[in-house]
Order: sequence, then C-alpha cells, then structure tokens
Amino acid sequence: MQISSAAARPAPHSDVLIIGGGQAALSAAYFLHRFGLGDRYQMLDHAPGPGGAWQFRWPTLTLATANRVHDLPGWGLVEAVGLDCDQLPAATAVPDYFGRYEEKFGLHVHRPVHVRAVRREGDGFRAELGDGSSVTSTLIINATGTWDRPFIPHIPGAADFRGRQLHTHDYASPAEFAGKRVLVVGAGISAIQLLIEIAREAPGSQTFWCSRREPVFSTGPFTPEQGREAVARVERRVRAGLPPTSVVSVTGLALTPAIAAAQRDGILAWRPMFTRITETGVCWDCGTNTRAGDGSDSTSEHLDVDVIFWNTGFRSAIDHLAPLRLRAPGGGITMTGRLATVVDADPRIQLLGYGPSASTIGANRAGREAARVAADLLGASPHRQPVNK
Ligand SMILES: Cc1cc2nc3c(=O)[nH]c(=O)nc-3n(C[C@H](O)[C@H](O)[C@H](O)COP(=O)(O)OP(=O)(O)OC[C@H]3O[C@@H](n4cnc5c(N)ncnc54)[C@H](O)[C@@H]3O)c2cc1C
Repeated sequence: MQISSAAARPAPHSDVLIIGGGQAALSAAYFLHRFGLGDRYQMLDHAPGPGGAWQFRWPTLTLATANRVHDLPGWGLVEAVGLDCDQLPAATAVPDYFGRYEEKFGLHVHRPVHVRAVRREGDGFRAELGDGSSVTSTLIINATGTWDRPFIPHIPGAADFRGRQLHTHDYASPAEFAGKRVLVVGAGISAIQLLIEIAREAPGSQTFWCSRREPVFSTGPFTPEQGREAVARVERRVRAGLPPTSVVSVTGLALTPAIAAAQRDGILAWRPMFTRITETGVCWDCGTNTRAGDGSDSTSEHLDVDVIFWNTGFRSAIDHLAPLRLRAPGGGITMTGRLATVVDADPRIQLLGYGPSASTIGANRAGREAARVAADLLGASPHRQPVNK
C-alpha cells in the first residue's frame, strides 16, 4: 500500500495504524521508514495542522519558557528553524518544525481525521472515523497525547460558582484577566508561569494561588539521575496496571530569576487547597454556611474571586480505545515490553506518550521502540534503511 499524499483519503487498510500526529507519532513513523516499513503504515491526526499539542499552547509560551522541547529523531529543531529560536512562540515554532520534518522525511499524516472508536475485528482492528467511515489495521500504535483531556479535580460546589472557571487548555492571554480577582490552582510549571504572567501583565488584577502540596523549588540543576528516577517511578506504575502519574510534573521546579523575583514581590503567596467552591469564591473547611471575606488574610475561611484558573494537569486522551477494554483492575492499562509501550492484554496495541513516554524525549524513544516491535510482529527485520531526504 503506498500513500502518496497527506491530502489523500485514508486507505481502507494498513498493517500499522498510527493514531495521532505529534512527537510520538512522528517518531514512530520516522523509524518505520527507517526499518523499511514506510509503505505499511498510515497516520491519522485530528488536529488541523502539524505540531501535535504544541499548536494549541498559549501564545506567550516561548521555546525558552517551555520546559524543554526535545528534537525529533534525525533532524533537530535548531537545524530546521534556526539558531535564534529561543524567543519564538512554541505554538508557531514547533508546528513549523514538525511540518518541515514531515516533508523532509515524507511522513504522511492524514488531517484532520478524528478516530472515534477502535474495536477488534477478525485478526486486527477497525477504527471508526469522525466522518462515519472506517479503516482496518493489523497493529495499532496509539499516540494521542493528553492535550484533549484537561483534568479538573472534583471539588464540592463547583457548579454553584458564578464566576469564570477555565483550564490551562483554554488560556489565551493575561489581558482577559484585567481587573479580576484570579485564583490560580496547581503547583506545576504552567501554574507558576501563568500566575506570574497574570500578576505582572493583567492590569488591575489580584492573584491568589492554591495547590494540594506546596511546591519545592530547587536551586541546583535537575540531574539526569533525578530524571531517570522520575521516569522509572511512572514506569513501575504502568507495569503494575496503575494509572500513570505525570513525568513532566516531576522534572523539577527550578528557582529561575523570574520565580525568585516573583517570590520577592509576594506573587507566590501559597495557600493550601480549598475544600469547597461557593457562588462567589472558595473556602477552607467551611460547611454550607460560608461567609464572604476580602481574601487579604490567609487565615480567613472564604476568598471571593472572579476567576478560578485550573492548572491541574491532563490525563491520557484514550477514550477512543474504550471498546477494547484495556483497563486493569488497578484503573490503568498494564504495560509491558522493553520501554513499557506494549499493552500487556493485547501486544498488537502500543501506547506512546502514555506514562513514562509522556515527555518529548520519552516520546522519541517510545516511537523507535514501537517501530521495532511492529517490525518484529510483521516479520520484517528492523535493519536500517535509508530515509527520504
Ligand atoms: C502545557 C504542557 C506543557 C508541556 N511542556 C513540555 C515540555 O516543555 N517538555 C516536554 O518534554 N514535554 C512537555 N509536555 C508534555 C509534552 O507535550 C508531551 O510529552 C509531548 O509533546 C507529547 O507528544 P505526543 O505525540 O505524545 O502528544 P501530542 O503532541 O499531544 O500529540 C497527540 C496528537 O494526537 C492527536 N489526537 C488525539 N486524539 C485523537 C483522536 N481520537 N483521533 C485522531 N487524532 C487524535 C492530536 O490532535 C495530536 O496531534 C507538556 C505538556 C503540556 C500539557
């Protein structure tokens, strides 16, 4: 089967179906080409253009303020986009890079094609697509990331709140918070960066900050050993069938000059997590009788706010795999294989960007491993083949 252009309709069948078109999917496709399987897969992505989740990141996130965007295999970002790219918005620079990469290596991505559900059929799978059509495949490489599954914890009273609630997923710019009392929830790097951005750049705003645990900032570098241990922890969980925790959330909160300045300016005044949401704000250890306060005293029970801004992370966007019933009793999907990319219950399915591979560097490695496993299952030896240049 030869797929000649990204615009062509998906073929009715491919040996390998890659679902997704971000870093993990492109890495898998790159290595499938390299292992001589360039004409035996197809890749379906429901995003409008290249870049995976990066195309949707907020405009103020630059390549310098992103944690670290690891190069795709075989061709680096600086080579593709240029040396002075640090100040470029991630939402345009990464898609630009990914687009050039797809072109350079002849990786065919069908867009926008939404995969609604995947079911077992015969010796393989049938994927139902958003337009009502379907395609079949022998193997599945799922690389659908997390961006489409923003997570907000359940807190009693959330439906009563009369102000605005939004998630990192929906953030556009600090300007929309001018004059507002904004409560930022979360302790990851996105929460902290956006809290500082709103406090500094939304005129007349007042910011507050809560999370379950108070973050600890490190003054030393995050070492490769710490990185490996963080990934190993998540890997142990998915091998045991437990829901994965986030790899990127533990890659360290460095005390950067911007964070140190925000601490000095009183922007990072942390409070523990509230226990209830009311019509006008949040409260701690309160019953249904809440009393309004001005929020200036950290011991007050109630804080009035206009906006609750949830920076509480994402979950794996794998609802379309639900008909396959992959979940273990522990609530996660039990993973196996050298890099924990293989679904234990059905080794014809691999999950990339899930658990230990949910980082740009992990996605790359998992892509290579997934291609190797696919080559094995298809009886094709994964020896090196030239890729189109
Ligand atoms: C706010 C934020 C900041 C981050 N910053 C960093 C960072 O600085 N460094 C780092 O290493 N990692 C970071 N991460 C994690 C990082 O984004 C990922 O690990 C990596 O980029 C994800 O690549 P991916 O290919 O797994 O997923 P994605 O880039 O999310 O790609 C998934 C693709 O699948 C498609 N898709 C989803 N569902 C379907 C479906 N049903 N049908 C068809 N297509 C579908 C989507 O359109 C998308 O193109 C960050 C994550 C978030 C949320």
